[in-house]
Amino acid sequence: MKKWVYFLTMIGLIIIGLTLGPNPSLASSTGWKLENGKWYYLQNQKPVKGWLQDGDKRYYLNDKGIMVTGWATIGGKRYYFQANGAMKTGWLNDRGTWYYFAPNGDMKTGWILDRGTWYYLQPNGAMKTGWLNDAGKRYYLLSSGAMKTGWLNEHGTWYYFASSGDMKTGWVLDNGTWYYLQSNGAMKTGWLNDAGKRYYLLSSGAMKTGWLNEHGTWYYFASSGDMKTGWVLDNGTWYYLQSNGAMKTGWLNDAGKRYYLLSSGAMKTGWLNEHGTWYYFASSGDMKTGWVLDNGTWYYLQSNGAMKTGWLNDAGKRYYLLSSGAMKTGWLLLDNKWYYFKSSGEISYGLQKIGQDYYYFNQSGVMLANQWYVHNQKKYYFKNDGAAAKGVLNYQNKKYLFHADGTLANGWVNMNGKWYFSDSNGLVKTGWLTYGGKKYFLDANGARVTGIYKIQGKTYYFNNDGVLSTGLIKINSKAFYIKSDGTPYTNGYFTINGKKYFAKSNGELQTGWLLQNNKWYYFGNDYTMKTGWVLVNGKWYYLNKAGVMQTGWFVENNKKYYLSSNGAMSTGWLNLNGKWYYFNSSGEMQTGWIEVKGVKYYLNSAGVMQTGWITINNKDYLFDSSGALVRGPVTKGKDEKTIVIDPGHGGYDGGASVGSVKEKDINLQVGLKFAELLKKQGFKVYMTRSKDEFISLDQRVAFSNSIKPDAYISIHVNSAGATSAKGIETYHNSKDGVMPKESKLLATYLQKALIEATGTVDRGIKDESFRVIRGNEAPAVLVEIGFITNSGERANLTSTSYQNKISSALLKGLMNFFQATN
Ligand SMILES: [Zn+2]
Repeated sequence: MKKWVYFLTMIGLIIIGLTLGPNPSLASSTGWKLENGKWYYLQNQKPVKGWLQDGDKRYYLNDKGIMVTGWATIGGKRYYFQANGAMKTGWLNDRGTWYYFAPNGDMKTGWILDRGTWYYLQPNGAMKTGWLNDAGKRYYLLSSGAMKTGWLNEHGTWYYFASSGDMKTGWVLDNGTWYYLQSNGAMKTGWLNDAGKRYYLLSSGAMKTGWLNEHGTWYYFASSGDMKTGWVLDNGTWYYLQSNGAMKTGWLNDAGKRYYLLSSGAMKTGWLNEHGTWYYFASSGDMKTGWVLDNGTWYYLQSNGAMKTGWLNDAGKRYYLLSSGAMKTGWLLLDNKWYYFKSSGEISYGLQKIGQDYYYFNQSGVMLANQWYVHNQKKYYFKNDGAAAKGVLNYQNKKYLFHADGTLANGWVNMNGKWYFSDSNGLVKTGWLTYGGKKYFLDANGARVTGIYKIQGKTYYFNNDGVLSTGLIKINSKAFYIKSDGTPYTNGYFTINGKKYFAKSNGELQTGWLLQNNKWYYFGNDYTMKTGWVLVNGKWYYLNKAGVMQTGWFVENNKKYYLSSNGAMSTGWLNLNGKWYYFNSSGEMQTGWIEVKGVKYYLNSAGVMQTGWITINNKDYLFDSSGALVRGPVTKGKDEKTIVIDPGHGGYDGGASVGSVKEKDINLQVGLKFAELLKKQGFKVYMTRSKDEFISLDQRVAFSNSIKPDAYISIHVNSAGATSAKGIETYHNSKDGVMPKESKLLATYLQKALIEATGTVDRGIKDESFRVIRGNEAPAVLVEIGFITNSGERANLTSTSYQNKISSALLKGLMNFFQATN
């Protein structure tokens, strides 16, 4: 068989040699030559020996010049020549085994890096696969020869190789997960003891952190992987891991304290019921003993932690715990006996005030009921409900009186605002009682009466202290007068110490006004009837000696008063039968001169206000229809003043105009109004014109000089190109006037009064030699009372109210002028 294989191989090599051998050059003395199945290379017809480079290929020719094929050792190094004789480089698979040759043809051994992958070639050149021990390290080479890095599973066991190819042992962090490789490189699963700590590796090899349940037991591993023991806080809940790491459930004794761990392992806080017994655990988990306050309720836990119910003696005090464990406070009924527990839970003994009532508890804490009891030398009666009797108690057909503190009384007791009185046996008094020199009355219930009270048909008065009272008394702001027998005056007048009172049918004393038989009487705040002057609500009244209110004229101490029909004294002006009288603020009727609000009036000796011309002390005075003094003192006929009014323009001379509004009309209207005012004041008035007619300027001056007036006033209306121009100005003539000084003074007073009255622009007085004030023998002026060309003033000048205002101002100015010159 072997022989047959060898034969076939030889045949193959021959065929390869025939077909793939070196290319023979043309028959020449140089080049490849095949002879007897062997190749030679001739140079100068001699065969070449040793290495030959032909083109890009290398050949080796042995010492006979024969071209070598297959394996060859040359100079101690191994080479391989292909069937055509070309030296091999790179990988060679020879009969199933891989070899690697350097570019110079040397067969490689040991590690090589080929296109980024490491390979290992054994000393005989054969490429290694599988496990390799090299320089004390272990490697693994895949069937392709490539060195393994990272995880390798071989026969179900995992290994891990570093990027340098060396197999890892111990802890390895891969992709954020820890693994443990044993000393033989095999990946560990399950429990691991390392450096005194315990770890658990999952079947994937991943190191476990957090909770692990193994065979029904829980373990807990820190983030570093080490198994925890003792207390662990996880997600806000405490757990306890035993020394073997197993999570604890049920009771635990730790550091002298007791804990309870639920089946989930969670440490219990608050209440726990185990086998019908309650336990309480603090927020720190330790089981509580003694008193515990939970949600405002006290509980008591015995030394073994079991919650207590029923009676408890603690620190010398008694407590009662309900079946819920809650400490009892307040009332408790147990076996038909009442007990009372204070807010501290402590049971009560002896006398106790509970709410508004008193109770008594014997040495067993049992409440007394339905019995008399003496405590600290004071007597109590505890009623059916246990409360000590207060106030009046009906007991065996007798009435007993108790104080508010439950003690049996002797003397006065106040109950619900009412007073009672008891004798030395504690029995309640009724009827009349004289005590401390004062008389009282106790009603059928024993309550002391106050105020008006009827006893056997007679009315009595008892004051707020219950004392039978006399004299003037007040009840609810009503007044009464009590006689010495304790009954009040009623039905009409009665007199005490010379003072008169009036009692109504119910005894209430009259105050204020009282009408009787069409006559008014007045009773003061002291309830006495008033006489003489009284001031009521800011008004004065007069009551005669009989107390009757007076009306009409009334004289006292030579002074006259007037009391109106309702009795009120008059002050100020009063009109009686068309005549005016004046009473000062004291009500006294005035005569002679008076001044009211800056106006002078004259009242004759009968008090009647005067109007018209009146002569007083040989002087004449003029009073207007309202009684106001308007002129005087003057001597009539001698002191009368004469005025000439000169309304400017007239007839065909319209003066200034705007549209249908003409100056001559305004001048005449104002002139006539001024004339009327003057006549009312007793002046003699002459007008240069009193209708729409033309009068020349010379005629006007001649007319005035023929009269010789006390003043000459020419009335005009102004005009200007600028419609904004406005105001009043008054002209006088100091250049060639006959009375320049008086004329200027007249102009000054008129201008002042006009501006004060109208409030318009003051253009002042001006000095001009106008015709009407030249050669005029009177104080003569010309007044421009406004601008017809100003729309505002034009509207004013054509209005009656403004014309009246101008006229009144002219009158005032004129009178001031006369006052200044007289
Ligand atoms: Zn004019």
